[in-house]
Amino acid sequence: MTTAPAPTTLGTPTMCLLHGDYHVMGQDCWATTLDWQFAHTDLEGPEARDAYLCEVERKMLDNLVRNR
Ligand SMILES: [Zn+2]
Repeated sequence: MTTAPAPTTLGTPTMCLLHGDYHVMGQDCWATTLDWQFAHTDLEGPEARDAYLCEVERKMLDNLVRNR
């Protein structure tokens, strides 16, 4: 079971792992998020969400460092 964002939340800003950003996600963004979920099916509910958010945060920091 997973509580990660479902396609029903389309049109709602979501933490995007692909871009390391908080925005309304496109198809590529969702594909990346779903890929992450499939790679981490061993994590459950809040644990999976925390791990996902950590991953997005890391990506955000990556972007900051790279854009400097
Ligand atoms: Zn995105």
